[in-house]
Amino acid sequence: MYIGRFAPSPTGELHFGSLLAALASYLDAKSNNGLWLLRIDDIDPPRELPGASDTIIAMLQAFGMQWDQDIVFQSERSHLYQQALNQLQQADVSYPCYCSRKEIKQRTSHSRYDRYCLSNKTTTTTIHTHCAWRFKNDTSSFIWQDTILGEQRIEHSENADFILKRSDSLWAYQLAVTVDDAAMGITHVVRGRDLLMEATKQLQLAQALNLPTPAFSHIPLVKNDSGQKLSKQNLAPALSTTQINHQLYTALQMLGQKTNDKFKNAKITDILLQATQDWNPATIPLEYSTQIRT
Ligand code: GLU
Repeated sequence: MYIGRFAPSPTGELHFGSLLAALASYLDAKSNNGLWLLRIDDIDPPRELPGASDTIIAMLQAFGMQWDQDIVFQSERSHLYQQALNQLQQADVSYPCYCSRKEIKQRTSHSRYDRYCLSNKTTTTTIHTHCAWRFKNDTSSFIWQDTILGEQRIEHSENADFILKRSDSLWAYQLAVTVDDAAMGITHVVRGRDLLMEATKQLQLAQALNLPTPAFSHIPLVKNDSGQKLSKQNLAPALSTTQINHQLYTALQMLGQKTNDKFKNAKITDILLQATQDWNPATIPLEYSTQIRT
């Protein structure tokens, strides 16, 4: 059975790029008679925007995208991430790291971690709580297939020994998302291309944890009128509940899907039903031709 999901982080409100990711994952799930689940990735309280979870949930409802099971909140699932970390530690594919970002920068000319704490293991006799945990990544290159973009080949240097748990005790997105996607039975992940590189790490972690892996489809990123990707960081405008029909119409057009002028006055549920029937992932473009005015 197909199980898809949308997994926003409540670090800001949804913007038009988020709408495309939500809509594409929703329509792909529904057109495959699948379930579409909602997970709030709230594992980074310092970056969280108060009230954003509620606004995101209300916005998805306003756009008629109803999830199929109880909402999953990552903030309630620390025990699962700890179990996974224990498993990786026991398998000797995770090691503690005491280096600060500054120290790594001083020692190396690139952002790749130099395994200082792996080779100096014997000197760290007591593992105290203020260390980070890294994934010991020994694969030389890793190849996988993205449903939209085709073969992805990632060299070891691009994602060596990434962090699983931060020194401030917060979980890394990589570990949490890999554990949750498997626990929720997710079979298909459809999301924005800003997370393409992360998929490699997720697949490597899933392999190390003996977890099943979903199929990944990464859709293009929306750019603003100065050509930058829309993101919370560059203050993309939040979605609004006015002109929902118009926004859905534009979103479907950008995703290369059939649209109908009747959508402009139709009920939102009818638009989504029609779009589900007409959904064709093969016509999602490699880049959008439109930019969004911000
Ligand atoms: N929570 C992540 C974000 O909002 C996305 C997670 C995912 O789709 O895998 O960037």
